[in-house]
Amino acid sequence: MQAFSRLARRPLVSSLPAAGRISTLSRHFSQTSLAMAPVSKETDFLVIGGGSGGLASARAAAGKFGVKAMVIEGNRLGGTCVNVGCVPKKVTYNAAAIAETFHDAKSYGFSFQETAPFDWTTFKKKRDAYIVRLNGIYERNLGNDKVEYVHGWAKVLSRNEVEVTLDDGSKTLVHAKKILLAVGGHPTPAPPIPGADFGTNSDGFFDIDTLPKKVALVGAGYIAVEFAGMFNALGVETHLFIRHDTFLRHFDPIIQEGVTKEYERLGVKLHKQSNATKVDKDAASGKLTIHYNEKGAEQVLSDVDHLIWAVGRTPATANLGLASAGVDVNDRGYVVVDGYQNTNVDNIFALGDVTGQVELTPVAIAAGRRLAARLFGPEQFRSLKLDYANIPSVVFSHPEVGSIGLTEAEAVEKYGRENLTIYKTNFTAMYYAMMEPDQKGPTAYKLICAGPEEKVVGLHILGLGSGEMLQGFGVAVKMGATKADFDSCVAIHPTSAEELVTLK
Ligand SMILES: Cc1cc2nc3c(=O)[nH]c(=O)nc-3n(C[C@H](O)[C@H](O)[C@H](O)COP(=O)(O)OP(=O)(O)OC[C@H]3O[C@@H](n4cnc5c(N)ncnc54)[C@H](O)[C@@H]3O)c2cc1C
Repeated sequence: MQAFSRLARRPLVSSLPAAGRISTLSRHFSQTSLAMAPVSKETDFLVIGGGSGGLASARAAAGKFGVKAMVIEGNRLGGTCVNVGCVPKKVTYNAAAIAETFHDAKSYGFSFQETAPFDWTTFKKKRDAYIVRLNGIYERNLGNDKVEYVHGWAKVLSRNEVEVTLDDGSKTLVHAKKILLAVGGHPTPAPPIPGADFGTNSDGFFDIDTLPKKVALVGAGYIAVEFAGMFNALGVETHLFIRHDTFLRHFDPIIQEGVTKEYERLGVKLHKQSNATKVDKDAASGKLTIHYNEKGAEQVLSDVDHLIWAVGRTPATANLGLASAGVDVNDRGYVVVDGYQNTNVDNIFALGDVTGQVELTPVAIAAGRRLAARLFGPEQFRSLKLDYANIPSVVFSHPEVGSIGLTEAEAVEKYGRENLTIYKTNFTAMYYAMMEPDQKGPTAYKLICAGPEEKVVGLHILGLGSGEMLQGFGVAVKMGATKADFDSCVAIHPTSAEELVTLK
């Protein structure tokens, strides 16, 4: 809507307009303005990155506080979460959960025959179409909130100037009073072993368009674990290569050990203490052969349809021009911010994955909205900031796990073992009552309480429904609940969650 608002400050390089893809509502004005072809734009709040954090912040600034805001996005609106993260991942997880339910249904007396394997190709097309619909909704939402949307790649030139390379290769210069860096990250490149490029990464996972027979994943973080669980549940021979003996190593041991053991029971082929050393590709079949070292012995895995490197995320700061503006990044490339999302440069802010704090969508959104309110809202919001303590997080593994607060090791370090009371339980959820012993999945909960008042400082859950369950318990922990508060809430029976309010 706030289309080219000023005359060009710089001469045009070519006679063609310097226009990228501009939001639906502003497109008409922009195209009619092109004849004059100004190359310079002005805005009050320039957001680089149309992902979770950037969109939330720009929309809050413009929609709630009437600020002239602009979003620059080089890829598809919605960022990692919508396009190659949470959303398509959860849809795929749902498919995997349905496959598991089919399997379990037999124990409940259902009898049916699968007449065809899972139709991954049709599923993927529908999933892609859903994401395209979301992209459109995100673009319309920007229009509704009167945020100008420019499609292109941004580079910071100074504390007030950003250069945008538009789709046609031309460049436009944007002058901004405030700049928000919300550029997120991308998959960390594979280790430099011969043939590593024959593999793909988490972005490539979403391009797989036929049901593979055999896959290999490398990594021990939640992305590798989630993908491995989904493939396995959908009947794909799944190999997971990890460097140690367990995965999800930032989580409490009940989760690390519990899920690792469960994956082995479910048939995921875990290669512990392993390192891939070389990858070959058969030119005719396209199949991969992975050479690896497992516990000191050289091994080979052949006939692999896809190898997925899930070895971490890297902030997208390499080509952002931060040095020209004097913005500090740390040794891993993350933008350094204080508790208010301020960088070291006065009017430049950063949030979300690019800051390497807690790399989750709702965290980026919450930080983005708070920042907009602090910068542009009324006086009472001047000291608003996101509290990064006690953020709940869930892994859509098989079964799901969830966690909030400190792990046992962190709690011991913070409070001392003598000041902690730890409550734990392992049990078989009623869902498995109709199943044979070897079909029953685990459920395990742990509550870590500190001090004589037994304040709950860590809660870790593993079992069916953990994802949905954690949100409510998260509110309690965030409010500073004690064990007595948990116990004072009457149980809901028969559920698994009731065990958390009856722990002895
Ligand atoms: C496989 C996977 C699964 C995930 N699952 C979950 C989950 O279940 N739950 C959860 O909460 N989180 C999940 N995440 C994490 C979540 O996606 C991120 O935490 C979230 O997207 C971060 O938001 P952001 O705004 O910081 O960055 P992003 O969403 O990554 O957005 C950054 C945007 O900036 C754009 N950009 C980068 N550089 C430039 C530039 N120079 N100019 C213009 N545009 C630029 C990028 O194209 C991108 O669109 C998952 C991530 C992955 C990879």
